[in-house]
Amino acid sequence: MPMTRFTCYRCVHCCFFTEERESPILLWHEVLYLGKLGELLKIGLNFKNLGQGFYRFAISGFCPFYDVASRACRIHREKPLSCSMFPLLVDLASLELSTSLLCPWVYENRRNLLEDPGEDLEEVFQSEFKALREVVKWVYTVSKETSKLAIYFTSYFKNVASDVIREISEKYRVIKITESSVVDGFYYVLLEGEVDLDHLERLLKRDEITWYKLEKVPPIT
Ligand code: SF4
Ligand code: SF4
Repeated sequence: MPMTRFTCYRCVHCCFFTEERESPILLWHEVLYLGKLGELLKIGLNFKNLGQGFYRFAISGFCPFYDVASRACRIHREKPLSCSMFPLLVDLASLELSTSLLCPWVYENRRNLLEDPGEDLEEVFQSEFKALREVVKWVYTVSKETSKLAIYFTSYFKNVASDVIREISEKYRVIKITESSVVDGFYYVLLEGEVDLDHLERLLKRDEITWYKLEKVPPIT
């Protein structure tokens, strides 16, 4: 019998952590972004370097981005991939998939999940699978050897921000663009390969851009 699609109950299990070791794993570019977001929102965030480009978002209790009143993630659109793929879990060495029994939906459907072959998980967890693919893409295809440049800027002029991003995209290899849903006009753009810092400075130094920062990211070791 085909399994029903996964339905998130929006319980607190995903965003409340009794033990730090249960809290989300982050990719290095997510730490850069969340770190800057934390600074702008004046929220203290704690990341632990696990090596090889992975970090733990060390949280005790509710995640600082969780809104208890609405039972929702305040950064839903740009939340970390490990949050987006939950309750799917992946062993990145073997690419073996599993589901977390901490999730009440998984617990209720555990018999069917165990009986179904692995490939059906893609049908059951459609959007979570997309996030999982994104994780695998970052880990296996986004080169770790080359340096990257993170650009952060704030502009309340959407057309100016779009023009800047378009010009950057035409000249450089852009590997990530994020527009914040919680800090008005805040953008994060990640570039790979050679960049002309003078050109970027000229591009970003304008009245319509409130502030900007360029941050070189060394190769991941
Ligand atoms: S980032 Fe969002 S989804 Fe992830 S733990 Fe925090 S509140 Fe929950
Ligand atoms: S534990 Fe499962 S049901 Fe609860 S919020 Fe997370 S994914 Fe949704």
